[in-house]
Amino acid sequence: MIELHGLEKRYGATYAVRDLTLTFAEGEVTALLGPSGCGKTTTLRMINRLTEPDGGRILLGGRDTRSLPPDQLRRGIGYVIQQVGLFPHLSVAGNVATVPELLGWDRRRVRERVDELLALVGLDPAAYRDKRPGELSGGQAQRVGVARALAADPPVLLMDEPFGALDPLARERLQGAFRDIQRRLRKTVVLVTHDIDEALRLGDRLALMRAGSLVQFGPPGELLRRP
Ligand code: ADP
Ligand code: ADP
Repeated sequence: MIELHGLEKRYGATYAVRDLTLTFAEGEVTALLGPSGCGKTTTLRMINRLTEPDGGRILLGGRDTRSLPPDQLRRGIGYVIQQVGLFPHLSVAGNVATVPELLGWDRRRVRERVDELLALVGLDPAAYRDKRPGELSGGQAQRVGVARALAADPPVLLMDEPFGALDPLARERLQGAFRDIQRRLRKTVVLVTHDIDEALRLGDRLALMRAGSLVQFGPPGELLRRP
């Protein structure tokens, strides 16, 4: 579903990502794992074109992402980052509605979708739709971030340390919620994490990076058996 071919990104003389060839399988969660600075975020940002690669190709459903119009990329890829990045001046509903509004959905369809998504991530729509991000706990805000990323029902979900900033209890709850949602929706998910436990809990496959390159790739059980 997402194919990376010889992907490269340099900053000055150093490679952030080097000759990265990797396929993220449709409907699976691939945990992209590795120490800080190994190129995980840069890889995600190249997939959704926030960062331009210096070399290589990215195919999304067989199509080079360079040939996809911005709207199609927006519709096709949901993006969740650490600390959410919700728009503080918009309501919860306004945040979740961002992409559908950009895509020009009519108001009624947007409202229905917002409520459906809030319920999906475990927030009572009536209680939360009009709140501001500043009124939410970290876990609630991150749920809104997930709802926003899912708004246009993209086949692909890129998640960059989505649970990293949460306290242990909130993290565990949200990991559980994510697992339930993924069981239902079967998105193609790239989950960036430096937490091996999280990768094992949530990943159907693990991709281990070091210094910009892929060092191991496979289902969790297989990787654990190797030295
Ligand atoms: P990770 O997500 O695994 O922590 P990153 O992808 O953020 O790693 O970074 C990979 C490498 O690229 C690091 O050495 C980082 O310092 C460098 N890097 C990332 N973004 C930039 C940037 N905008 N300018 C310069 N160097 C960067
Ligand atoms: P804000 O005042 O924060 O900008 P708006 O009231 O403009 O938020 O709403 C932004 C989007 O959220 C609109 O597309 C609207 O359809 C949707 N929305 C607003 N209020 C609700 C609500 N109570 N329930 C569901 N969706 C809502």
